Amino acid sequence: MMPTKHPLTFSVIAECARTKARTAILTLPHATLETPVFMPVGTKGTMKGLLPEQLEDLNCRMMLSNTYHLGTNPGPDLLDKAKGLHSFMHWRNGLLTDSGGFQMVSLLKLARITEEGVTFKSPYDDSECLLTPERSIEIQNSIGADIIMQLDDVVSSTLQDRNRVEEAMHRPVTLTIRWLDRCLKAHKKPEKQCIFPIVQGGLFSDLREECAKSLLLRDVAGYAIGGLSGGEEKADFWRMVTLSTGILPRDKPRYLMGVGVAADLVVCVALGVDMFDCVFPTRTARFGSALVDSGNLYLKHKRFAKDFSPIDPECECSTCKRHTRAFLHSVVTVEASACHLLSVHNIAYQVSFSQFFMSCWEVRFFLSLQRGSLKNNAGSSSYASITCYVVKGRH
Ligand SMILES: [Zn+2]
Repeated sequence: MMPTKHPLTFSVIAECARTKARTAILTLPHATLETPVFMPVGTKGTMKGLLPEQLEDLNCRMMLSNTYHLGTNPGPDLLDKAKGLHSFMHWRNGLLTDSGGFQMVSLLKLARITEEGVTFKSPYDDSECLLTPERSIEIQNSIGADIIMQLDDVVSSTLQDRNRVEEAMHRPVTLTIRWLDRCLKAHKKPEKQCIFPIVQGGLFSDLREECAKSLLLRDVAGYAIGGLSGGEEKADFWRMVTLSTGILPRDKPRYLMGVGVAADLVVCVALGVDMFDCVFPTRTARFGSALVDSGNLYLKHKRFAKDFSPIDPECECSTCKRHTRAFLHSVVTVEASACHLLSVHNIAYQVSFSQFFMSCWEVRFFLSLQRGSLKNNAGSSSYASITCYVVKGRH
């Protein structure tokens, strides 16, 4: 069978000599962008407190939306009529949707996983619903994102019960793999949207390796690494990331799901990851926290009441150009506009942080890490071990 002509190209333009870090140009139907890339999460097709054009102004070229929420409201029929989410929400850049499965398992306690799919009780009318791989892809086809995800069986990374993980994987031919094949078969728009399969396997190296190797046999344009960053030890997390990136092919993008805190971003880029998403920058903004190199500024704190400096004097965002910490102190967690102002800054910070990698190549990524010059945020308490882990090649 002829390989599919995928609507995605990925051209590696530089690689670090000592780590697995690389930078590349990713071309999708709605965007051409540089990787590593951080994607903010707009749950229902809109970023809380931000307009699509503001995201563009912040240099954000790719965002993530949640299939579970969009599938419920506005729903696939309306999205079909609107010719997809891009035109419905007026977003002219890259879009990625998750499969909806994670939301169900994490939001809905009563979710049950069978060979057929994920069964859950609707939070809207208590009726029993079934999300199958086919239904997930059908909704994602209606949404029309550039990159869509297979339905997978998410097993918590802190779960130590090997039987449960194996059950999720249904060795030797895993459930996640069988669901992937059903997703690929159900996909109606392969010329416009790419399905990324997901490497699962908990913290068990052999299961994760088996899963990754099985994915290689499928004709896909990129891969995701899932089921991590759920509270496991950092060393276990990094071990699973580097094991996965070590198996996945060099010439295709690798997306680490649900990871985006700055220190994690640094180390996972060094371990060969190209794409990240995280709700953290916008969620933390709602609680009055601003992201800065030295950590978070909790602006509600009284020490900011008379501080007339901006959140970050070097930041180019509109919030830092126009507003003081003292003003923000008086409105955070009280006024909706404060959430907006902090979200602007936090997304600007996150996007510029991932773009910062592009400027590191001249001095080599690992040297930047070694000198601690890769922004101070990486200098949190775990920085010493990150440097040791990445630079000394303990992976
Ligand atoms: Zn700012």
